[in-house]
Amino acid sequence: MKSVAIIGSGFSSIAAACFLAKEGWAVTVIEKNSMAGGRAQVYQEDGFTFDMGPSWYWMPDVFEKFYNNFGYTTTDFYKLKRLNPSYTVVWSNKEEWKIPATSKALGEFLNQYEEGASKKLELFLKQAGTKYSIGMNDLVTKPGMSVLEFFNRDFIKGIFNLDVFTSMKKHVAKYFRNKKIQLLMEFPVLFLGASSDKIPALYSLMNYADIELGTWYPMGGMHQPVKAMQRIAEELGVKFCFNESVKELIVEDKKITHVITTSNILKADTVISGADYHFTESMLPIEKRSYTSQYWNSRVMAPSCILFYIGLNKKLPENITHHTLFFDTDFQQHSNEIYDNPTMPTDPLFYMCCPSKTDHTVAPEGGENLFLLIPVAAGLTNDTEIVREQYFHKMADRIQSRYGVDIRDSIVHKKSFSVSNFISTYNAFKGNAYGLANTLMQTSILKPKIKSKKISNLYYTGQLSVPGPGVPPALISGELVAKYVMKESNN
Ligand SMILES: Cc1cc2nc3c(=O)[nH]c(=O)nc-3n(C[C@H](O)[C@H](O)[C@H](O)COP(=O)(O)OP(=O)(O)OC[C@H]3O[C@@H](n4cnc5c(N)ncnc54)[C@H](O)[C@@H]3O)c2cc1C
Repeated sequence: MKSVAIIGSGFSSIAAACFLAKEGWAVTVIEKNSMAGGRAQVYQEDGFTFDMGPSWYWMPDVFEKFYNNFGYTTTDFYKLKRLNPSYTVVWSNKEEWKIPATSKALGEFLNQYEEGASKKLELFLKQAGTKYSIGMNDLVTKPGMSVLEFFNRDFIKGIFNLDVFTSMKKHVAKYFRNKKIQLLMEFPVLFLGASSDKIPALYSLMNYADIELGTWYPMGGMHQPVKAMQRIAEELGVKFCFNESVKELIVEDKKITHVITTSNILKADTVISGADYHFTESMLPIEKRSYTSQYWNSRVMAPSCILFYIGLNKKLPENITHHTLFFDTDFQQHSNEIYDNPTMPTDPLFYMCCPSKTDHTVAPEGGENLFLLIPVAAGLTNDTEIVREQYFHKMADRIQSRYGVDIRDSIVHKKSFSVSNFISTYNAFKGNAYGLANTLMQTSILKPKIKSKKISNLYYTGQLSVPGPGVPPALISGELVAKYVMKESNN
């Protein structure tokens, strides 16, 4: 029986564990924290259930496909609810757009702001749908080890239709003139960790995911898919070791011979790391690392963030929806302060999630569960409690100004999480939240490789490798590396 030790229990690690265990491998998952899920951990306090990371359930097809591989369907584990409106955008003039859940209704809504917008949306989404189909069925299945993976006639013919060499910003501007519509169409690529002028327009496939496939919520919270995957893994015999950190990887003769953890010494034929790539390399002797510190310092990291998990003992107004994007300040300035001149933002955009609007189990009766997020540059070192608190008040002021309610007078639970917590909790490089940005120069074969260049039995998965940040890509990444490992072990 072949054996594999998997570092970390994020989505990518558990996905890899499931695929390998299904093929008869003995799989041990070692996780430094007390539960599975990685950045999608959950905590319960004062009667509230807080999802600590992801809150947008997009691309339900990717989750469904994953479960189908193991004889399950999504509803075997949780009920999915499609949100309508999908989300709300708050603009600077206090105007707000509640984004309808169907493309037809969205098109009609946008016609008020730009003549013919519905027709343009139709064309934009038709093309985005083609990209989604090619992207999800072909591109993301490539391990990104060699350019030869892409040498087939259909792909080369198709590449020019995929808009790989134009930016998302330019692409959107070709279709829409209205600035707000442009920002709305550029919003989904924020999940990919860079501004729309740096992200290839290939990723308008994310608009297809947003508008056509929809924004969903797994009842019970975003930890439900983690629980589902853990259950599948355990049924297949995967052993999880929690509260156990990998400390060192012993290499002899280009092979990892032992994995040293805080409480154990493990031997395995293969090691897969779903922990942050840079951190994993730091556990190897310098000469055995695939990438230098100069390499890592020249990477464009996706942002980190300032987060607040807040429990309220009152209900918020009816017109506050599950997801609200406060796009009521200068987008460009905030973007410069994340990417070009990394500093704490002057007047940031922010995101508010109120899952208790959809799911009464995540807050006590009469209360509300709030999650506030400001994207900030990875690598900032001044995320002290005092600084975080200043940002909390900026957000509370803007919520009050828009919705006429002061959340500060009804807080019964409040906890912050930011750059330094990402480092201490997840060993995140520079405290990143979302891994590496999916810029053109960091896409596919240009990402850190899923196989070590110097150690024959060490592989990588997760949001710093292919295909990139986000929960659905993490599921795909786990499958991809598991299949790659199995292929190599059969050769
Ligand atoms: C605040 C936030 C909001 C997000 N929102 C969304 C969203 O709405 N939708 C979406 O699709 N995606 C979202 N994402 C992104 C998504 O959560 C991630 O891309 C995905 O969860 C990453 O999974 P992963 O498998 O790559 O690794 P991770 O989740 O990073 O897991 C890595 C694991 O490795 C463990 N580890 C590290 N070092 C060691 C060690 N030495 N020994 C043992 N274990 C170790 C860590 O503890 C961690 O559990 C969000 C992320 C954050 C942080």
